[in-house]
Amino acid sequence: MSEGLAHSLALISCSTNEWTVPFKCAVSTCPNTYTNAEICPTSYKFHNFPKNKEICNQWINKCDLEKAADVEKLKVCTEHFSHSDYVKVEGVVPQLKLHQYSVPHKNIVIENGSKPNTALINQFDALNSEIEELKLKIYKTNRMLLAKKHKLSVIKSKISHLMQKPNRELSTITKIFSATQINYLRGRKTFWSDDDLAMAFTLRHVGSKKLYLYLRNTLNMPLPALSCVQKWMAKRC
Ligand SMILES: [Zn+2]
Repeated sequence: MSEGLAHSLALISCSTNEWTVPFKCAVSTCPNTYTNAEICPTSYKFHNFPKNKEICNQWINKCDLEKAADVEKLKVCTEHFSHSDYVKVEGVVPQLKLHQYSVPHKNIVIENGSKPNTALINQFDALNSEIEELKLKIYKTNRMLLAKKHKLSVIKSKISHLMQKPNRELSTITKIFSATQINYLRGRKTFWSDDDLAMAFTLRHVGSKKLYLYLRNTLNMPLPALSCVQKWMAKRC
């Protein structure tokens, strides 16, 4: 048995039944027998002959049996199959099932007396095993990549939200204060515009000097100094 298939033996779905015990592999040249798996564990398992007539005839031919042989109770051991003869059946416990069209081909003396190239078959099995492992690795890597992409997308969305927040706040402030007043609030050097100075002048004369100073110095409203307003007004007179 190839290393790949031996490694998967536990997963292979077997056709052994108590009522058939003991028996020998149906391949005429194969010495493998089955007595009782619990008493005598083997490194191989057995498969029933297929129901499909055409495939069954190919099995009969490979086993070197009579064409009309009754194969109901006959079985062929796993030593005559490769990893590629099995299909994976997913489930709680994954299983390897013999493909319905698989035919025994390994370790069989063929008509011209020569044996099949087992070295090549073993190499093929090993490569198949390697491919299966790589497929699993790719599957796991893809899942990991997908999870990381999702995380990245969540982080991007958070960053975008945080970047928009100051803009939203600024938009509210601009409805109340002028650009110069916002600059003033930010502690930057301020050059009051005519509009700012006109607004300050109005505020000063609608209310009192005391009120203006209270708003500016106590409540820290962004207003120009009174001297500044007076100078501006003097230039206009
Ligand atoms: Zn056998």
